[in-house]
Amino acid sequence: MSDDIRTKIGLRPIINVSGTMTGLGASIVVPEAIAAMTSILPQFVEINDLQRKASEVITRLTGGEAGFVTASCSAGISLAVAGAITGPNLLAIEKLPDVTPERNEILVQMGHVVSYGAPVDQGIRLGGGKPILIGQATSTHRYHMEQAINDKTAAAVYVVSHHVVDYGLLNLKEFVEIAHAKGVPVIVDAASEYDLQIFLAQGADIALYSGHKFLGGPTSGIVAGRKDLVRHAYLQNMGIGRGMKVGKESIFGVMATLEAWEKRDHSGIRERETGYLNLWKQTLDGRPGITALIEPDPTNNPLDRMRVIVSPQEAHITAWDLAGALRKGSPPIIVRDHEVEHHYFYLDPCNLHPGQETIVANRLAEELDKARASNEIIASPIEDLSRHRFDGMLRWPD
Ligand SMILES: *Cc1c(COP(=O)(O)O)cnc(C)c1O
Repeated sequence: MSDDIRTKIGLRPIINVSGTMTGLGASIVVPEAIAAMTSILPQFVEINDLQRKASEVITRLTGGEAGFVTASCSAGISLAVAGAITGPNLLAIEKLPDVTPERNEILVQMGHVVSYGAPVDQGIRLGGGKPILIGQATSTHRYHMEQAINDKTAAAVYVVSHHVVDYGLLNLKEFVEIAHAKGVPVIVDAASEYDLQIFLAQGADIALYSGHKFLGGPTSGIVAGRKDLVRHAYLQNMGIGRGMKVGKESIFGVMATLEAWEKRDHSGIRERETGYLNLWKQTLDGRPGITALIEPDPTNNPLDRMRVIVSPQEAHITAWDLAGALRKGSPPIIVRDHEVEHHYFYLDPCNLHPGQETIVANRLAEELDKARASNEIIASPIEDLSRHRFDGMLRWPD
């Protein structure tokens, strides 16, 4: 612990079992990327040439015609949308977010307008797009999309995420078919997906990824796809992309990350994660009021998580109070609690350093023993969670 940089600078040494969260520093950066970033930081480079090299690696891994690195997947949404609106018109690029001419409608299914920490539709608007929401939250039919396409339609955005509604909507193949029938390009937000090829293979014109999620790269975004559209997105670096720029270290870091991804021992990592899940299951099975289920990733990434269902009557604590106790404890453990009002949270095994799985198991057992031993049920009102969610943020930096 003593050589942990976090404790040296007064930060809590958190253990992340929630996934690749921006608010927790995204992911463990792979050693290849760290080495690459260190090697290029003292040197000058011609950035467009470095991005050309990145394009080669991105092309090889994604099957796209071209690609580049930007600040984040979120930036990628804005840049790709902007590119679809402006094309190569340099004056139009400078004028964004004002749009001339006004061909800026961007179709997106209502069930895809989610928040990944910021709203999807804002990413579209930042790029000069006017989001046109098609269908309803839980249903999009072909006619919704077909009849929304007109002369002002610049692109259509499709979001792949555990956050989106996962039934009743158009799947990517249908979405692409309808868009392409009228010459509309499709931009896929695949920020948190393992498969770097499938969306372009299914006809997407642009696929966007985060460099800092499963890939384990530096904070960054990857834009890949049709060469003209990638170029038009890249040209935005002379406009709105300036505030979303990446330095040489991130570009080169992503290149190294992608090369490491090609060689990664994916099945070995899966096996290790399965070991963690089994350990947690052993720890939790048979405890009163606790059900531990190993479940596959909702968007089919090759990853399982553990769903921990907490029955307050028998466990003597609610799922959210348990999550809170783990977060406040020592060391602090952050669980995946997006759906905690349904009395469960998840444990995500993919961001652990060896040995941390045991700490997680021990802390779970400790808190559950403590709750069981208490005479009353630890149950703060769920409404307090939403009431106080942003208290800390609104007080920042104090
Ligand atoms: C994480 C995420 C984003 C944002 O990605 P960043 O690279 O962190 O900007 C966008 N869309 C989806 C679906 C995400 O999961």
